[in-house]
Amino acid sequence: VSHVPSWQDQAACRFADPALFHGPDEEDERSRIRRERNAKAICAGCPVRAECLALADNRRDAHGIWGGLNEDERRKRTRNLQRAARLQVAA
Ligand code: SF4
Repeated sequence: VSHVPSWQDQAACRFADPALFHGPDEEDERSRIRRERNAKAICAGCPVRAECLALADNRRDAHGIWGGLNEDERRKRTRNLQRAARLQVAA
């Protein structure tokens, strides 16, 4: 079977420690902020950020940092996109 190239092959995090993107269940706030800052710095230079975010949007079990955003930030982004879509329909 030949290797099918996918956007994941270009992910800036492909050689990074996954623990940077998904913290432990018990994590204090300061550690989380520091860890997320380091993960987001990798995402900032990632050429497939949009694809990564889209995949997270389609997965209910997407925990941690995806596309440079943590869970709360992705939830907020989805809400804002939905609100913007509703406003467009109403206009
Ligand atoms: S956006 Fe971040 S988490 Fe997503 S593939 Fe790129 S580096 Fe990895």
